[in-house]
Parts: sequence; structure tokens; C-alpha cells
Amino acid sequence: MQCIRRRVQVRGVVQGVGFRPFCHALAVRFDLAGHVGNDGGGVFLELEGEEERVAAFLESLEREPPPLARIEEVRVEAMPARGERQFRILASEPIPGEVTPVSPDVATCDDCLREFHDPADRRFRYPFINCTNCGPRYTIIRDVPYDRPMTTMAAFAMCEACAREYHDPHDRRFHAQPNACPTCGPRLEWRDPSGMGTVFTGDAALAAALRMLRDGGIVAVKGIGGFHLACDATQPHAVRELRRRKRRADKPFAILARDVTQLRRFAEISTEEEALLSSRARPIVLLKRNDVPGIDEAHDVAHDVAREVAREVAPGQATLGVMLPYTPLHHLLASVGPLVLTSGNLSEEPIARTNDEAMERLGAIADGFLLHDRDIHVVCDDSVIRVHRGRELSLRRSRGYAPYPVRLAAPTPSVLAVGGELKGTACLTRDRYAFLTPHIGDVGNLETVAALEHACNHLARLFRVVPERLACDMHPGYLATQWGRRFAAQHGLRVIAVQHHHAHLAALMAEHGLGEREAILAFTFDGTGYGTDGTIWGGEVLLGGYGGYERVAHLATTPLPGGDAAIRRPARVALAQLWTAGNAWDGTHSAGALTAEERRVLRIQLERRLNCVDTTSIGRFLDAAASLAGGRHAVSYEGQAAIEFEELARDGAARSPGYRFDCAVSPTGVIIFDGGPVLRRVAADAAAGRDKRDMARAVHVALAEVIVAVASRLRDAQGIDLVGLTGGVFQNVLLLTLAEDALRSAGFEVLVHQKVPPNDGGLALGQAMVAAHA
Ligand code: ZN
Ligand code: ZN
Ligand code: FE
Repeated sequence: MQCIRRRVQVRGVVQGVGFRPFCHALAVRFDLAGHVGNDGGGVFLELEGEEERVAAFLESLEREPPPLARIEEVRVEAMPARGERQFRILASEPIPGEVTPVSPDVATCDDCLREFHDPADRRFRYPFINCTNCGPRYTIIRDVPYDRPMTTMAAFAMCEACAREYHDPHDRRFHAQPNACPTCGPRLEWRDPSGMGTVFTGDAALAAALRMLRDGGIVAVKGIGGFHLACDATQPHAVRELRRRKRRADKPFAILARDVTQLRRFAEISTEEEALLSSRARPIVLLKRNDVPGIDEAHDVAHDVAREVAREVAPGQATLGVMLPYTPLHHLLASVGPLVLTSGNLSEEPIARTNDEAMERLGAIADGFLLHDRDIHVVCDDSVIRVHRGRELSLRRSRGYAPYPVRLAAPTPSVLAVGGELKGTACLTRDRYAFLTPHIGDVGNLETVAALEHACNHLARLFRVVPERLACDMHPGYLATQWGRRFAAQHGLRVIAVQHHHAHLAALMAEHGLGEREAILAFTFDGTGYGTDGTIWGGEVLLGGYGGYERVAHLATTPLPGGDAAIRRPARVALAQLWTAGNAWDGTHSAGALTAEERRVLRIQLERRLNCVDTTSIGRFLDAAASLAGGRHAVSYEGQAAIEFEELARDGAARSPGYRFDCAVSPTGVIIFDGGPVLRRVAADAAAGRDKRDMARAVHVALAEVIVAVASRLRDAQGIDLVGLTGGVFQNVLLLTLAEDALRSAGFEVLVHQKVPPNDGGLALGQAMVAAHA
């Protein structure tokens, strides 16, 4: 029998996912000799044996890889046979400069959960149980190759039993780097905010936390990618107290439910939503509330689950952000009932990472601290996803997804893109990969800048990226831009300032794997983006690709009195837009929301154009429409008015008398669509007592119609029928659906976001792509 030998190089996410033991098992199955090892570039193998057995091995390798692996490339080379008999697993050897995708953190797998619930198992109820297929990854890796000494588990020496599993190729914990047990691994610790009281460890720590949660207290919990603040979601006073201490007025909190059965009691859930909630990434999924207790529950008085989720969790909203337990610790905590689980920070600050940081920053918020001694190397907040027509729409791409790269159409130069201001994320490109940091938060203070810097450095180290260029937003006042420019000066990098909406366009193209020759017609609708003419853009129709763009249409300009401050007061924006449209504002809901003095000052501001910034923002247009319709007049978080307006519109009558934007063409050939006529009609209808849900619906329909009207004119003029919908406004799935349907039936091909957020969380990817092609 002829023996052959092959050298095989496998690339993709193949480290830290049980790939070497998997290869070992395959080699045993097909009776092959040789070896397998990790290097900085992926996994390499040498296989020796009969030709068809080698072929069968390679086929199985690609067909049935371990669950967490993502194979991107398999290269096979011939080499002379050596007459070897054994198959060995080699220790890792780094190759400087090579890139290996690293796995995100993965939710506890079913095999581990079985042991976790088994009283006879040595890891019964152990809060840090994990295996080759699950557990922390990205947040504990200090450097590659992914081996225990390079992780924050290096501090824990494995006991004999754990070491045996770790070294046994037939064990499901073979080379599971975070392997641990109650004897040798991390343990829980309970402390009170003063740090002075009794310290409990292990089961007693957990019991103290559960008791405090039941008693309506607020507990800071160290999770996998940072601290959370938790309280019982069914106790209104606990939720209110958390809001007060966290200084967060209305912005919704996420809920941790024990299981799907429990969450069905307060939310509607589709098959796709259930699959996503239970996936390995375990994101927060936005679900529709549905908490009228059913007949079964009403009788189920003995169980806590019969209690309702407090309205205070997501005031004024018909949706709830829900997640299922993704670490063993969360499985233990969720036994209390649905919990509020929100990022462990004071509003505006980044999420706390170390025990000391948490004790210091959250000391005034939490009544107790559930800590542990496994360090989090890099923070990773929860991801947020909305399911829309069975399709995912990422709103925040973080835990469970980062740092999986976005695969690009072609190799690109290495760029560090620092993102915008809101929903900060950075992006590093290398070869055909774009690596995005997890969600950092709004980059509005030095702490968040430091968190952004830490995340960038970490990605650069893990993926061996040496940036050649730096991309940032054109807004000179953004802290991320300022930090980026300093970084570029230190490292001698060329800086490319990218227009905000051009970056949105490029992010959408990159997500869809479009190349540098392609162009799309992008409707980039959002709240705020610095325009090239010094005004605030946000209702832009751009035609172009990575290399450049033309602003072919936009919303008519209106004044924003008081600039950014007006964003918190939709009523002011509404009056300013109505005034611009030539309408009196007396008697409108918005006028009623302001004092006579405020209205007087506003009128002077508008007439003399004092402290007014021009804007084309669709976000502000929607704020104005919402306020005039009798919706929200003041907001406590970004996008609040628009989110509530979408909810109103969802219940509105589809067949309502329509509103219409005016369309005109400027002397330079730019199409200008004017929202003034829509707002005038809303004001008149509101005065006539029309249902605000119907008005909200009609505004959404008008916006979708103007998108199609503008796209159709441009198709005739420019011959392009590939349309993109991007920008934060397209988190609104009603508008997205209406626009997408109308465009498709008009014969357009439509691109929408799925994996990368349409909001500013996706901006860095687009900035990087533009800079790479500059
Ligand atoms: Zn597992
Ligand atoms: Zn152990
Ligand atoms: Fe934006």
C-alpha cells in the first residue's frame, strides 16, 4: 500500500475551539500518522498514510469541524513520506506577524450544563464551568497563540483532575485553556460597598447575592466582559432606585430571563428570535412585550414567575431587550426570576472591568458586589439585535460577535479607524479582514477615550496589525478624532478624515462584500453627522463607493436653535421646523410644551438666526413630527422620541390620508426633499384631533415614499439601481420595511444592514474602507 505525506495549513477561527483534538480524533479514525499544531497563522498538520484515507480526512475536516471553528482556507502541499506511525499534538509555536482570528466568548454549552446540574459531578453548580466548546475567549486572551499562559487563567494552576482532562486527547476538555474546577479555579466573592464588612466566598457569596436581589437590592455582578448592575425586574421600587442611582431616566434596561418559558410570560417570541436568544452568542434580543398573565400563570401563585416585569424597566415602550444566561454564573443568578442586567457604569462612563474599578465607580450604586478572581483582560459589553422579517438587524455588535472579523472583498492596507462619537467602536483592517472592537459606549469623556485606546491596542496586538493610516470623522470636536490625530502624529501615520455619511455608505458596502469598483445610491439617514459645508447632515442621499461620493439629494435645511442642546428638546425642534415651513405654531402640542418665555426667546433666535446651526437631519425631522403629533417633547436619551414614534406608527392605520414631501431640484442639480409640508399637515391634523398613531404611520409612509421618488429620479439620471439604506434612522424596522418593500416593487435592488449596525457603531468599518481606498 502506497503511503503519502501531506502538509496542511488551515486558516480561520481554528484556535481555542478544540481544533487540535478534533484533528487527533480524525487521524485515529482514518489511521493516519503525523502531527497537528497551532501557529500564529492558524493550524498546521502533517498527515501520513494511504492516499484515500488522507483524502477522507481532509473531506471530514471541512465537512464536520468543531462547532466553534470557522474554516476559511485549507492549503495542502505534498512532501516525502517518512514512515511515521504515530499522530501527535504539538505545543503552540508563534510565528511573528501572522494573523489568527480569535473566537468570541461563547455561552455555556449543553454538555457543561448537564454536569453543572448533576449533583454527582465535581463541577456541580460551579460558576466557572467551561470546556473546549464554550466559555470565555476574547475577554481573557492577552496575546496569541491562544494558550493558557497567554490568558488571564495563567494565574490558576490546574489541579490533578483538571490537568488530566486537559492533557487527554479523548477528553472534551483537552486543551480547554480556561479549564477549571472548584478545587483549582476561580471562585466567587461577596463584598459590601464599604469593603469593610464580612467577605463571603463560594456558595455563601452566591447566597448573599441572591438574598440581596430578592430583597430588592442592587448587586454589581462581575460577568464575562465587564460588570453588570442587577436587580429584580419584577420589583418596581428596585428598578426605580437603580435608575435614580445610575442617573438614567428612561433609557430601557435589558432583562436576563431564566429560560424561554419564563420570558414567554412577558414577551412575544418568534422561532427566529428564540434561535437567536439561544445561540452561542446569546445577544440581547429586542422583543415585543406581552405581559398579560395567562390563565396558567394566574394560578401559579407559588412561583415568582407569575409576577410581572415592572414598567420601569423600559418606560413607555412596547419592546423589551431580553437575554438568556450565557455563563454558568448567570444561570445561577437567573434562578431568582427575571433580573434587570444593565452595564455596570454610571451613565456616560465605560463599563467597569476590574474589581477595584467596580468597587470605586459603582460603590454609590450597588448595595453589594458579587466578584470573582478571574481577570477580564478586555471589556466586552452585551450585543443587541433585533429580528426583522426573520432576519437579524444588529444594533450593537459586541459580546459573542467581536472579534470575528468582517471579511472584505479584497486585501486592503492596514488602517486604524477610530469611529465617531456615539456608540463608539474602532476598526482595524489587515489583508482581507476588518476587525471591529466591541461596543465601547459614547466617546464623550476621557474614560471612554481610554477604553477605546485599550481596545484598539488589544486588537492590534492580537491580530498583529501595524496601521499604515488613520481614519477618523471630520468633526473636529470629537474626542475620538482628537485621540486618533494624536496617535497618528506619534506613529507618523497619514490621517484621513472621512465624512460621516460617506462612512455609513462604505460600512454597508463592506458588510455586503462589495469591491472598490462598485457604487451604490445610499440613503444615509441619522441624527447628526458633520457635513463638508459645516452644517449638520443627516438626511443625505449619496452616490458613490469607497473612493468617493456625490451628495445627489438631501432633506431641505432647517435651523437647529441652540445646536446640540435642541436635540434634548424635540418641541423646540418642531417649532423651528414649522416656523421654517412658514406656519404659525400657536395651538400646537409642541408650543404647549414650552413656556411663553421659551417661545419668545425661540422666535428671536430664529428671526435673528442667533445660535442656530443648519441641519438636514432626518432624526430631527422625526423628532419634530413626533412632538407636533402629540408625542414626546423632551428626551432623556438619544433617539427616544423616534423610538416611541415608531411604536405609535406600528399601531397606526395603514390606510390613512397620506402626507407628502415636496421635491425640488437645486441650481446645481441636487434634489432637495422638504419635510415642511408634512409637518404642516401633522400640525393641522393634530389640531383636528386625529389619532396620533395614524399620524405617526402617515409620516413613516411619506418618508418611505419620498425615498422611492428620489431613487427613481436618480435612476433615470444616473442609471443606478442598487440602493442602500443606512444610518441610525434605519434601526426603525417599520421605516426599513416600508422603504425596502416600496423600493423592491419599484425594481431596485436593496442593501440593508444585518451583521454590522446601521447606527454609528458601524461607522469605523466604513471609515477604514474609505481610508484604505484614499
Ligand atoms: Zn462546555
Ligand atoms: Zn481543577
Ligand atoms: Fe450616523
